[in-house]
Amino acid sequence: MTVVVTGAAGFLGSAVVRHLRARGDNVVAIDRRPVARRAGVVPIRADLCLDDPGVRAAVRRADAVIHLAGCPGIRDRLPDVERRRQRDNVDATSAVVAATPWQVPLVVASSSSVYGGARFGRASREGDPCHPLGGYAASKVRTEQVCRARLDAGAPVVVARPFTVIGEGQRPDMALSRWVDAIRLGRPLRVFGSLERTRDFTDVREVARALTALLGSTGVVNVGSGRPRTLGEAVDAVGSVLGVEPLVWIEPASADEVADTWADTSRLADLTGQVPQTDLVDAVERLVAAPALAAVG
Ligand code: NAD
Repeated sequence: MTVVVTGAAGFLGSAVVRHLRARGDNVVAIDRRPVARRAGVVPIRADLCLDDPGVRAAVRRADAVIHLAGCPGIRDRLPDVERRRQRDNVDATSAVVAATPWQVPLVVASSSSVYGGARFGRASREGDPCHPLGGYAASKVRTEQVCRARLDAGAPVVVARPFTVIGEGQRPDMALSRWVDAIRLGRPLRVFGSLERTRDFTDVREVARALTALLGSTGVVNVGSGRPRTLGEAVDAVGSVLGVEPLVWIEPASADEVADTWADTSRLADLTGQVPQTDLVDAVERLVAAPALAAVG
């Protein structure tokens, strides 16, 4: 089948494109950044907010759509960040949803940040109330609302809430990438809050498999491993892969940083029959070994 992937030049998007190609699917890879043309991959360089006729035609003709384009990152403090979050998370999703025929399976990337952390002392469940702590999470709540009419009608749309994704090509602003860079530069690792805080680190390859397996389902679905791991464990994994004892620098966490996150994975297991296992050290090894994202394409 032919699958449209938006955000195909990005961290998750490039992993999804590789996964789909390995399955033998054809891909139309849309991004405003360049994506390399290769067998089975037709790149379209376009901005989803600019009503590009080529994008509309590709989405209309697709057998399925995985929409990953967006403005990620809770720690983005640039002055125009709220405008970019609205534009690239909410308005771009509106454009993709409007162009996708109702019967075409669609997966839209939201984020676990909509929960505001594991507030009930347990894994977050899809039915828990949203409690966004900052502008990024709030924009993802609005992104989800764009899908509401289709969700309510039982159309084949999945709003996926990935937890902290790790592995090859991880964005340079994310913690593990920053820590790898810091060690390579001989600097201390900046950790926000404390080493005891937890994240549900989820392997990008398993996220790609889960997002693909969710095509055709309906509803909001967590994409995580269901296993909280401390930032200390992640620091140790980075240190052991690079063969150093990292020097850690604890900095105060900002108000939009949640203390702990982890996913209830029951719905993901029901719908796909699989839950990410995520070997932290293996994912860090692949991050360290991978070429820069631009080269991965
Ligand atoms: P990324 O920045 O690596 O990739 C996003 C891509 O979208 C970029 O290549 C960018 O050029 C493209 N893009 C953005 N706006 C666009 C537009 N208007 N038109 C065309 N292309 C556009 O980010 P990522 O980490 O791969 O995240 C992918 C999605 O998953 C995002 O929606 C993000 O919010 C969500 N998410 C990511 C994580 C994570 O841990 N990385 C966790 C939860 C949710």
